[in-house]
Amino acid sequence: MSVAVETHLLPTYPETKIGFVEGDGVWLTGTDGRRYLDFAAGIAVVSLGHRHPAPLAAAHAQLDRLWHASNLYASEPAAELAAILSDRFGGAQAFFCNSGTEANEAALKYARKATGKAGVLALEGSFHGRTLGALAVTGQPSKRAAFEPLGPARFATPNHIPSLYEAAGDDIGLVLLEPVLGEGGVVPLEPGFIAAAATLAEELGALLAFDEVQTGVGRTGTFFAWEQIGVKPQLVTLAKGLANGLPIGCLLVSDDAPRGFVLGDHGSTFGGNPVSCAAAAAVCRTVDDELLASVRENGARLLSGLAALPAVSEARGAGLLVGAVLDRPAQQVVDAALEAGLVCLTAGPDVLRLAPPLVVDSDDIDNALAILTEVTA
Ligand SMILES: *Cc1c(COP(=O)(O)O)cnc(C)c1O
Repeated sequence: MSVAVETHLLPTYPETKIGFVEGDGVWLTGTDGRRYLDFAAGIAVVSLGHRHPAPLAAAHAQLDRLWHASNLYASEPAAELAAILSDRFGGAQAFFCNSGTEANEAALKYARKATGKAGVLALEGSFHGRTLGALAVTGQPSKRAAFEPLGPARFATPNHIPSLYEAAGDDIGLVLLEPVLGEGGVVPLEPGFIAAAATLAEELGALLAFDEVQTGVGRTGTFFAWEQIGVKPQLVTLAKGLANGLPIGCLLVSDDAPRGFVLGDHGSTFGGNPVSCAAAAAVCRTVDDELLASVRENGARLLSGLAALPAVSEARGAGLLVGAVLDRPAQQVVDAALEAGLVCLTAGPDVLRLAPPLVVDSDDIDNALAILTEVTA
């Protein structure tokens, strides 16, 4: 990657020495010509691995037919994807956009419209995106501070039920949770806490939304993370893993939820892009019971391998979204692992986050664990 390109980008991301030029399954090829085992998957995005044949063929076919005609006209790929997601959810309608933050913006607007209430109850340490609405409900002072004042939100403490009641109020129209806090340290919410949040939402006349931007589309070992929790939300947002790397976001509204949007209430020029939707439909068809079983199995292998490392005080997560609490800065381990040929992520200062493509096998897991053992020794 030439230096000239980088200097023309706004400095919102740290400078990196390495770039990637090609991907194949769970492998990336770097600008240095080396191969890297990819346990980041483009931040839990490339869910089926690089150049997986199913979304690749679907996207190619759609690229050769039609790229864009806008939401003013019927679109087969968007209609088909909405039908697949409705079926997986058990009855829902979809709004398509282009990212996770946009999906959450849609949820915020939907809840405000449906309930007439502007307040949102979210969690400390949560991450819902970078646009102003989604940022307002993100419980991380480091990301919010420079942009205050933000909209009305109140924050409870993850897995602490009394704090839900302390944050509650009549103005709350939306209770928004990540089933596993992703960016906030890979913290799974306990079923009892989620059940209490659902009960509270009902008492308040608020909608219950799960931000499954990171946990959705098989990442945790079920298509939606909520399937393992036993609480079905009224709203679900999806994005990261949905189209295997093409931009897409989605708000799903349960058929049981109060009606919100009417004609003209929301929109997106690029939302529902035919190429992204065709790829996403192929992804959804590929995330079948067999793949989900292997996600659970390989996730358990990764979790127990990490827990056994002396540098790791706790390993937690669900399926192939796994966090390891380290005795040293996580960035240090991410840098050393990259040097040793393994791409991984952080989730906060001392949590190593691993989110490999869902198609990893046990040898890939063992390879990654061997590298992590070496670099944390
Ligand atoms: C990444 C993420 C978002 C934001 O998605 P963008 O596509 O970056 O806007 C929102 N919520 C969760 C849970 C995420 O992990």
